[in-house]
Amino acid sequence: MKWSEMLLPTLKEVPAEAEAISHVLMIRAGLIRKLGSGVYSYLPLGLRVLKKTESIIREEMNAKGAQEVLLPAIQPVELWMKSGRFEALGEDMITFSDRHKKINVLGPTHEEVVTALIKNEVSSYRQLPLILYQIQTKFRDEARPRFGVMRSREFIMKDAYSFDRNEKGLNMSYEKMYDAYTRIFTRCGLRFLPVEADTGVMGGDVSHEFMVLAQNGEDKVVRCSQCNFAASIDKAECAEPNQKTKTKNQKSGEKDCEEVSTPGVSSVKDVAEFLKVKPEQLVKTILYVNEGNPVAVLVRADYAVNETKLARVLRSKQLALADEALIKKVTSASVGFSGPVGLKGVEIVADYSLQGMKDFVVGANKADTHIINANLERDFKVTKWADVRSIEHEDLCPRCLKGEVEICQAIEVGHVFKLGTKYTNSLEAAFLDEEGKAREIIMGCYGIGVTRIIAASIEQNYDENGIIWPKEISPFQVLLMPLNPENNNIMAAANKIYAQLGERNIEVLFDDRNIRAGMKFKDADLIGIPFQIIIGEKKLAQNIIEIKLRNNFRRYDLPLENVCAKICELMNDDRKD
Ligand code: ATP
Ligand code: MG
Repeated sequence: MKWSEMLLPTLKEVPAEAEAISHVLMIRAGLIRKLGSGVYSYLPLGLRVLKKTESIIREEMNAKGAQEVLLPAIQPVELWMKSGRFEALGEDMITFSDRHKKINVLGPTHEEVVTALIKNEVSSYRQLPLILYQIQTKFRDEARPRFGVMRSREFIMKDAYSFDRNEKGLNMSYEKMYDAYTRIFTRCGLRFLPVEADTGVMGGDVSHEFMVLAQNGEDKVVRCSQCNFAASIDKAECAEPNQKTKTKNQKSGEKDCEEVSTPGVSSVKDVAEFLKVKPEQLVKTILYVNEGNPVAVLVRADYAVNETKLARVLRSKQLALADEALIKKVTSASVGFSGPVGLKGVEIVADYSLQGMKDFVVGANKADTHIINANLERDFKVTKWADVRSIEHEDLCPRCLKGEVEICQAIEVGHVFKLGTKYTNSLEAAFLDEEGKAREIIMGCYGIGVTRIIAASIEQNYDENGIIWPKEISPFQVLLMPLNPENNNIMAAANKIYAQLGERNIEVLFDDRNIRAGMKFKDADLIGIPFQIIIGEKKLAQNIIEIKLRNNFRRYDLPLENVCAKICELMNDDRKD
């Protein structure tokens, strides 16, 4: 492919709207252009990366016996009503009313559609197991589209669904997909970590996320320094040192609780300073609304409530922070002064971090007032004890209880779930077993953010000059750079090499543009193709051609006739990566 004939608009300037490095580089390297919020066009170079990624995914899915299908993006809303997810997905769902005034959903994911298909097509145990997958555009009206294609409103996902007769079958399908994912992400050049994950609105009880460690990641993962525990922050349980101990017998030494005036002082930091105590002597009371009912959640003030864990504990389908009006109604005070003492008609959920605490500070449910020396049991009753805080950096590992955990930013590129019968039950997909008995099909689902892989790969593979593509997903394998296309000798050599590489089916981008050498070098490093072949006047006079490796800037000077063989050698040589 000749650069002069390609729509490959590189930019020197950093685009104003781009925050993440991958977003900046995808725009500067001419891979994508923005159309609207969270909506992007893929230009030829970007599409080549996308197609490469898709073909790695296809190869690995096919190798596991998964079969490719293509399911519709336009889906009747009734299916989503039946599964109960119309509400759960809420405003993320993009819908439209058709000319017959019927509401349709633009598919954000396909569990419902694939289960409806299987309900009609599978009736016997003989047709199971089955794994279907597709690579298709998904639509989600994300609350905060950002970082370019990393979190967009229209993105390409590979989604797969397994159908099995029993749990054992599901475990085998899950393992196959887990293994395929490991191979896919490795081939895409990603450094990743599979972690235990929350199942969220997808349902089921076992799930893993594949996380790419990167500073711009929107997710947090937790891992232990000593054992192989790794989980998402929303899944990781906390090992409270005294989680198991009861709060009884701790009354000795309790001081009398009393109200103190804290005028205008409501944040944890300010209250601690004002009362001259450490933040860990304070208990935060946060009011939530769980499916319409207020719930007070207590946590030691230097910790943060994890809303995903809280929703899991409460089995809540809808959980939100209470608004100011409700806080006033329930506590009779404004935000910042809520507390558990004297709180009536409200469920009180206490995090384990409160266990063992004595003589602590809480809000007094009164304007500008706190209570000091509050104590459990004596001053208020807890309805439910639970682990509802986020684990923190250097906390004790909840599994081995030896190591400390580390928390890293990460990008979720894939997610696998053991769904069980959530969808086959609500959409009534059953099969007849060997004895002719009807049973629900057991499902798993497996997603990969194909477009997100590209952004994630750049987040891990770049330098100050631009992208450094891993070999397997690079848009081209070789960039051929005649430095002065007006020089006939240079062009003759370039054409010769171009033809030779073409014969070997090596994908070459031929930079035939008549521009300054310096600009060619800059663009070459920006678009990040792994091998650059540089043909310059001085060296060519001695029949020397230069090969430069984008990842480590290693250079090789070779006679023209050896160039093609050297490129083949380097392409197959992983040690040079
Ligand atoms: P997230 O937590 O990042 O919103 P999710 O849990 O909603 O993702 P899944 O429903 O598990 O995502 O979708 C499977 C994969 O699709 C994710 O692992 C991710 O790689 C990708 N993905 C999800 N949402 C987006 C998006 N808005 N833009 C790009 N890729 C996405
Ligand atoms: Mg997910």
